[in-house]
Amino acid sequence: MNEHSSRDRLVGRLLGPAGPELSCEECFEQLDRFVELELARADAEAAVPGMRAHLEGCSACAEDHESLRALLTEQPESST
Ligand SMILES: [Zn+2]
Repeated sequence: MNEHSSRDRLVGRLLGPAGPELSCEECFEQLDRFVELELARADAEAAVPGMRAHLEGCSACAEDHESLRALLTEQPESST
């Protein structure tokens, strides 16, 4: 029976890979740095290990990430 193992794999995917894991608090603390690195096309994931995995697994932080990105990419230069 494979029912059990496939479900375990699904749960494992939801929880993300084993590795450095951030808490939401740590995620929040690193988020602006992470986004700045992302936007600078630097290796944000290497600078903040576990962040990407946390964002994939945590919708609350993923939302923060999205809105922060939107905020930082939206340059107010056309607001004359
Ligand atoms: Zn989180």
